[in-house]
Amino acid sequence: MPKLNEHYQNLKENYLFAEIARRVAAYQEAHPDQKVIRLGIGDVTRPLGARAIEGLHAGVEAMGSADTFMGYGPEQGYAFLREAISAYYARNGVSVDAEDIFISDGAKSDTGNISELFDVDNVILIPDPVYPVYVDSNIMGGKQIAYMAGNAENGFLPMPDASVHADIIYLCSPNNPTGAVYNKEQLKVWVDYAIANEAVILFDSAYEAFITDPELPRSIYAVEGAKRCAIEFCSLSKTAGFTGTRCGYCVVPRELTFTASNGTVMSLHAMWNRRQSTKFNGTSYIVQKGAEAVFSEEGMRQCQENISYYQENARVIADTLTKLGIRFFGGVHSPYIWFECPDGMESWAFFDYLLSNAQVVGTPGAGFGENGRNYFRLTSFGSRENTIEAMQRFEKLLAAV
Ligand SMILES: *Cc1c(COP(=O)(O)O)cnc(C)c1O
Repeated sequence: MPKLNEHYQNLKENYLFAEIARRVAAYQEAHPDQKVIRLGIGDVTRPLGARAIEGLHAGVEAMGSADTFMGYGPEQGYAFLREAISAYYARNGVSVDAEDIFISDGAKSDTGNISELFDVDNVILIPDPVYPVYVDSNIMGGKQIAYMAGNAENGFLPMPDASVHADIIYLCSPNNPTGAVYNKEQLKVWVDYAIANEAVILFDSAYEAFITDPELPRSIYAVEGAKRCAIEFCSLSKTAGFTGTRCGYCVVPRELTFTASNGTVMSLHAMWNRRQSTKFNGTSYIVQKGAEAVFSEEGMRQCQENISYYQENARVIADTLTKLGIRFFGGVHSPYIWFECPDGMESWAFFDYLLSNAQVVGTPGAGFGENGRNYFRLTSFGSRENTIEAMQRFEKLLAAV
């Protein structure tokens, strides 16, 4: 009999979206004539831009003839895409060497897999509330997590406690689920703390393209010293609508070295390269051709059109909450709006209340951690029409409370 990885017993039941679906289905069955509007999911709805489609087509065409056919590619990704991403960083004022970029099938895989590079014996800081992948991948590896509280007082942007040592720090900015964004000064505090503690920051920047204020950092490498302490994860999922097409990348700078217990200096770049070369055979050539087109100036302009569409939806939601006097976070440099449930309601109770009385579906904050208990997440990934209608219903319901 195999001895199992019993750490899986320590995972919380991944019931959030299943439970939402169950409650919505039950409601819809009891009220078949009601139109339910879903503003809960974290998935995009706008189609890919024309340049991305052209790039994908070019990839498909190449596969069809012997002289352009592509077999296995480099595990790290094709140079054409790594260079296009490096140029994209440069346009945003950040210097990242193409050599340090690894292409993948998405940031979920990368943020989950990265924990393989680290021993069980580490102090791991993870914010609460948070994207559940960081927590679950560490639990699967039998690792202990120290949570950092995100709350209204710190604007859901936890800062380091200089008196507490950490080895590994997860940060996500713009944040899922709260929409909060660290400014440069705050990230500088984190980078200084990481260097002082010889810690590594795992920085998830999946929503960087939603940042419109040029003063806000879209990359941790906008901060001096970050290449000595940080790995960055990015994705085309929210930037370019690639949630179903699948492409992401991470930056593991060659400067990132640590001394092992036997005195050997180990490079996280070399370790990640070894890990990927062993367990991953690369992202499809066709998808990488589509991704290359996304990073052209024209391709990125087309992505920004879709992002602006979502940002306008976010504004509709934010305006409604402002009008109702409900305290919220995010909604500007992020597709997410995170607000306090009215009257101190718990998030699942508010979910039921909103579904039954306004037929609007959101995501209960409790699904993202203890500190989300009294919060609720709405997304701007719906259609304009549905977002406006949902907010009219929302306003009618809550203005009466
Ligand atoms: C959506 C999302 C990702 C992207 O995941 P993919 O696997 O690239 O689709 C990464 N991090 C966060 C916080 C996200 O919300």
